Amino acid sequence: MDINSFSKEIDPKINSRGKEYFQCDAVKDLEQITSVKWSACVEGSETYSVDVIINKNKIIDWSCDCPYDWGPMCKHVAAVLYAIQKQSETAPAKVKHPARQKRRKNQRRAGEGYFRKNGFCSAQKFCTGTCFG
Ligand SMILES: [Zn+2]
Repeated sequence: MDINSFSKEIDPKINSRGKEYFQCDAVKDLEQITSVKWSACVEGSETYSVDVIINKNKIIDWSCDCPYDWGPMCKHVAAVLYAIQKQSETAPAKVKHPARQKRRKNQRRAGEGYFRKNGFCSAQKFCTGTCFG
């Protein structure tokens, strides 16, 4: 699957949900960990950690810690792919030193109130999706 055409190859529902997440700025903390590995948090009713492996624009592998298991790719991964697409278009990403474990725990806690505080793209809206009940 190619990073520039993945949207045509995944479930249209997952694609539109993922795009919605991306457009609502739910993808947080996108980082290129190594030359092929990307990592991000996606905020919905909960915050999920997504890792994606991309080698020369080919999406090799991905993972998300949400409970979605009805298809190969969940909307969180799709959202992160959109974010990576955008980032690749705008500026070459910097490879940062991976010291994420501790920070991510804090972010998860901080992220939980995000939608409530901001009012738009409410958690309820996303909650009714296919990912979780
Ligand atoms: Zn997910």
